[in-house]
Amino acid sequence: MQSKWINQAALKIQQSILKHEADIECLDREIGDGDHYINMKRGCEAISKMAEELEGFNAPDALNKIGMKLLSTIGGASGPLFASFFMGMSKHLKSVETAGNLDIALAFEAGVHAIMQRGKAQAGEKTMLDVLIPVAENFKQQAKNGQSANEIADALKLVASQGLESTRNMLATKGRASGLGERAIGHLDAGAKSCQVMVHAVCDLILE
Ligand code: ADP
Ligand code: MG
Ligand code: MG
Repeated sequence: MQSKWINQAALKIQQSILKHEADIECLDREIGDGDHYINMKRGCEAISKMAEELEGFNAPDALNKIGMKLLSTIGGASGPLFASFFMGMSKHLKSVETAGNLDIALAFEAGVHAIMQRGKAQAGEKTMLDVLIPVAENFKQQAKNGQSANEIADALKLVASQGLESTRNMLATKGRASGLGERAIGHLDAGAKSCQVMVHAVCDLILE
């Protein structure tokens, strides 16, 4: 993985987040405090401003810089969680020489584990993790089976959408929606939606 590619992925993510403003905004308004889209947009803008600087770093260092920037720009519950993701990925990749599909899958998984530790959350709590955990698991499995990047990207889009949909009928036990009890049932989680959008964006970049 190269920082040039990380910049391309960040740009694609930013475009997709902007395109899904209405969905993301409305979900956090229904069962949160309505700021999730603004938080995501702010994070994407901060990263896009770093594009030139990031090209001067190797991938692990670029990912760590992104994590640190997100920590100081996104705010809310999701800021430190996304920051932990990038820092966790960075840490894993530092020990890898040239990153193949399996290394990237394991780095992604390390990022997801960092979110779980930071937010003290598991699957099934109606959060971003309900997209990220199954994506990490499927990514690792496919990479182990030697699937091609295109096969992996195709399958991960489906897994991300299923993960998002799985949040609809969950009770929220973490984050703001956890105070709503049964009232949160029937609504998708906003952070899960952003993650589905981001997974799709990166997979589409690979499939292009
Ligand atoms: P805030 O809730 O502080 O306004 P955001 O609206 O930016 O922050 O982010 C809310 C999203 O963060 C939720 O939709 C959920 O997906 C995610 N989230 C909240 N708490 C946790 C947690 N402990 N672990 C994982 N994800 C969480
Ligand atoms: Mg919010
Ligand atoms: Mg908030």
